Formats: sequence, C-alpha cells, structure tokens
Amino acid sequence: MSVAKQLYQLQETDLEIESKEQALKQISSQLGENQVVVRVQTKLARENQRLEELRHQQHSAEWEIDDLAGKLAKAEEELYSGRIKNPKELTNLQHEVDGLRARRDQLEDKALEIMDKVELTEASVATIGNELKTVEAEWHHRQQHLSAEMEELKTRLSELEHKRQSLLDEIDPQVAEFYHELGRQKGRAVAKVEQGICSSCRISLPITDLQRTRSGNLVQCSSCGRILFQA
Ligand SMILES: [Zn+2]
Repeated sequence: MSVAKQLYQLQETDLEIESKEQALKQISSQLGENQVVVRVQTKLARENQRLEELRHQQHSAEWEIDDLAGKLAKAEEELYSGRIKNPKELTNLQHEVDGLRARRDQLEDKALEIMDKVELTEASVATIGNELKTVEAEWHHRQQHLSAEMEELKTRLSELEHKRQSLLDEIDPQVAEFYHELGRQKGRAVAKVEQGICSSCRISLPITDLQRTRSGNLVQCSSCGRILFQA
C-alpha cells in the first residue's frame, strides 16, 4: 500500500472518530435530561394542592351549614311553639329566622359552587396524571434508546481507535508527524485526486505530479500543499 493511501485511510479514520465523538457528546448531554417530566410533575403537584384547598373550603362550608341548620331549627321551634306571646318579641324572632334562612341559602349556593370546582379539579388532576404517565413512559423509552446508541458508538469508537493505531504502526513516524502538522494547519492533510484535479483546491495538477502520485510517491499539491492521493 502506498504511503499516500495509508495516510488517506488514516484521515478517513480520524474523521470518523471525530464525528462519532461529536455524536457521543451530544447523546451524553441528552441522557438524563428530563425537563418535560419535571414540568408535568410540577403541574400535577400544583393542581393537587388546589384540590386539597377546595376540599377544605367545601368541608368548612358544610360545617357552617350544619351549624346554621341547628340554630335555625331551634329558632323555628321557638317561633312556632306558641310560648312567645309578646308581638314585638315574635317579630324579632321572625326576623332572626328569616336572616338565618337567607344566610343558609347563600351558604348552600356557595357550597354547590365549591363542589363544582372540586369536580372540575378532580378531572384535571386525573388528566394531568395520565399526561405524566405518558411523558414518563416516553422518557424511559428515550433513555433506553439513547443508552443503546451510546453503547454502539463506544464500540465503534474503540474499533476505530484500534484501526487508527494499526495504521499508525505501518507509517513512518516522521511522515505521521508531517500528516498531523499539515492537518493542524489545513483541517485535512490529504486530498484525493479526481480526474487530474486536486479535490481540495480544485486546481488542475501537472502531469508530472500526477505520474509521481500514481507511482506511489508522497507528493504535495502545488497549490494547497496537501498530500495527494490517487485511488
Ligand atoms: Zn490542492
């Protein structure tokens, strides 16, 4: 195998290692990321708290209605008992009974209103609970997928590192150093020759360079300086 071909293969390997490392980095940042789940969990906690407050309000209203019903029964009993003969006292008692009834009706309306809210909030809690189950399942699925992808990438990377090392073992250390230095300067050290043209800078190469390249010599492009490789 010509040196140019070895260097070209080394470059292909280096490029694949680079892209796989990029992909691995991206997956690492996505792994464990659970913003969506946390957002729905927060929403559910908030709604549960609202439900608890409403139930508390409901119990208070019911307790107040019971208390009022007791007072009203007592006042009504007295009003209709016939024990009170004084007209002014009777009128006062009648007013008290009317007031208690009005207050009871008002509270009952309020209790109904709260009950409606409790029902709506219970439904909302159930809906968000289902939503949470869905996003959690999706999250688990995605984590599994990402972990599998990560394992695949790691395996491939270790294969590539191995391949890279065996390629380097075959290349003269000075040539390898030249390749690395050229790579640092230009991004890519090796350029393929396609139909007599350097594929990196698109210049037409002199016949002599093409001949020397074809016979396996290490030739640099006269324009961009990259090592030429002809397949
Ligand atoms: Zn060139």
